[in-house]
Amino acid sequence: MNVQAQIDADSPRTTEHFDVLIAGAGISGVGAAYHLATQCPGTTFVALEAQKTYGGTWTTHRYPGIRSDSDLHTFGYRFKPWTTAPIASAAEILKYMGEVIEENDLAPHIRYRHTITSAKWSNEENLWTIEATRTDTGEKFRFTTNFFWMCQGYYRHTEGYTPEWKDMAKFKGPIVHPQKWPEDLDYRGKRVVVIGSGATAATLIPAMAKDAGHVTMLQRSPTYFRTGRNAIEIAEELRRLQVDERWIHEITRRKILFEQDAFTRKTFAEPEAAKKDLLSAVEAYLGKDYDIATHFTPKYRPWRQRIAFIPDGDLFQGIKSGKASVVTDEIDRFTEKGILLKSGKELEADIIVTATGFNLCANGDIDFEIDGKPLDFADTVTYRGMMFTGVPNLVWVFGYFRASWTLRVDLVADFVCRLLNHMKQTGVKKVTPELRPEDHNMPILPWIDPENFNPGYMMRGMHLLPKRGDKPEWQHNQDYWAEKDEFPQIDLKDRAFVYS
Ligand SMILES: Cc1cc2nc3c(=O)[nH]c(=O)nc-3n(C[C@H](O)[C@H](O)[C@H](O)COP(=O)(O)OP(=O)(O)OC[C@H]3O[C@@H](n4cnc5c(N)ncnc54)[C@H](O)[C@@H]3O)c2cc1C
Repeated sequence: MNVQAQIDADSPRTTEHFDVLIAGAGISGVGAAYHLATQCPGTTFVALEAQKTYGGTWTTHRYPGIRSDSDLHTFGYRFKPWTTAPIASAAEILKYMGEVIEENDLAPHIRYRHTITSAKWSNEENLWTIEATRTDTGEKFRFTTNFFWMCQGYYRHTEGYTPEWKDMAKFKGPIVHPQKWPEDLDYRGKRVVVIGSGATAATLIPAMAKDAGHVTMLQRSPTYFRTGRNAIEIAEELRRLQVDERWIHEITRRKILFEQDAFTRKTFAEPEAAKKDLLSAVEAYLGKDYDIATHFTPKYRPWRQRIAFIPDGDLFQGIKSGKASVVTDEIDRFTEKGILLKSGKELEADIIVTATGFNLCANGDIDFEIDGKPLDFADTVTYRGMMFTGVPNLVWVFGYFRASWTLRVDLVADFVCRLLNHMKQTGVKKVTPELRPEDHNMPILPWIDPENFNPGYMMRGMHLLPKRGDKPEWQHNQDYWAEKDEFPQIDLKDRAFVYS
C-alpha cells in the first residue's frame, strides 16, 4: 500500500459533531452526562469510554474484596439516594451507576471501547477535533465538539505502579498488581505477601485471609485508618421511622460532611489529639499488647495522605485471628522463595501482591494541541482545579482527597452547566481562563503543597500536573466545605474568563 493509501485507510471516514464531548464513563463521566441532560436540555453530547462498560475505577479493579473506602452517601451522587450500608463493594457501586444510566436514559449517549487518542483545538473554528480508536476493531473515529469535559480520572487504567526491586525475576511464584488481577489466581491455602499499606492493601488482606494460608502485609511505613461499624446510625433510625429515602440521603450526607469537616479541622488544629483518636480505635481491636507504635503509627500528620475507612475493623480482626500479620521493614531484594528484608529476615511466599499504587495520568494519554502546537498541561495554571490558562472550552474533573470524589463531580457539573447556559444566552463560542492583571505577580507553585497532601503517586507525577497560584481562584484547594458555597457564587463575568 502506498503512503497515501495507508493514510486513507487509517483515517476516519466521517466526522460527527456534539455540543459537548465527555472523556470517560466512570463516576465523573456518568455524573457529567446526567447533569448535562437535566441542566442543559437540548445540548447534544456523547461520552467516549475506553473500557467495554461504565464504572471506571470500579470496573478496572477486580481484586478480592474490592470496595469503597468512603461512604456511599457522599460517594454516591447528590441526586440519587444510597439506600444500603455505607461502605460498598464495586459490584454494588456498579449497580447504582447502572441504575443512574437506565433511569435517566443515558445509555444512548455513551460509546464504549472508544479510546480518545488526540484532542486538537482550532481558534479559527472554535472547535475541538477529537480522534478515537475502537479497542476491539482498531477502527478510527473523528468527532468535533464545542466543549471538552475531561472525566478520565487521574491515573492510568492500563497498568498500575510497581517499583523495580532487585532480583524480582528470581521469585518463582506469581507477582500480581491489584490493577491487573488474574481471574484464575488460586490463593487457597497459600502464603501471600501483600506489599503496601494503603486502602487497597487494607481491603485485600482481610478478603484474602479468609481462604489463604496466611497473608502478610509488608509495609515500609504505616498508614492511618479509620474504623467503625459499616452502618450510619442516623440513616438506620430514619429508615426505622419510614422516612423517604431522598430525605435520609440528604440528612445523612449532611451529618457525615459535618463530622468530616470537624475531624479535618482537628487534624490541622490539634494533630496529636486527632492522631490519638485514630490510634485508640485501632487499639480497641488489637489490644494493648499489640505493637501499634511500629505498625500503625505513621510519621506524618493525619490527613496528609488519604485515610481509608476499615468497616467493622475487618483488617484488624484478621490480624487478631492470626490469619494475617504486619511486617514493617524494607525490601532488600526478591529471592526464589520470597522477599529478603533489610533487617535480614526472609519472608517466604507463594504469591506476592504489589499494592503499590498508581501511575498518575493527568491527560488520559491524549495528545493535546492548540492551533497545531502541542499542549503541555504542566505549562498552564489551573482555574480552581478544573480549567487551565490558555486552554479554551475545556474542564477536567479532579475530585477531593479528604472527602468523596463525587461531591466535586456534582459541584463542577453545576458550574459547567451554568457556564454553558451563560455562553448560549450571550452567544459566545469560546471561554478561556487567563490570569488577570492583578494575578501577574502571583507566585506560580506546584499543583499541590506537599506539606498539605503528599501521597506517592502525586509526588511521582507532580511535574506532569498544571501549576497553581496562591489565590483561591487559581488552585484546587481540596476544601469541599469552602467550594460548596464558593462555586455557585463564581462570577461568570470575572476577568479570569476571556470570552469571544
Ligand atoms: C480501588 C480504589 C478505590 C477508591 N475508593 C474511593 C472511595 O471510596 N472514595 C473516593 O472518594 N475515591 C475513591 N477512589 C478514587 C477514585 O478513583 C475516584 O473516587 C473515582 O472513582 C474516580 O472517578 P472518575 O470517573 O473521575 O475516574 P475513573 O474512575 O478513573 O474513570 C475514568 C474513566 O475514563 C476512561 N478513560 C481514561 N482515559 C480515556 C481515554 N483517553 N479515552 C476514553 N476513555 C478514557 C477510563 O477507562 C475510565 O473508565 C478510589 C480509587 C481506587 C483505585
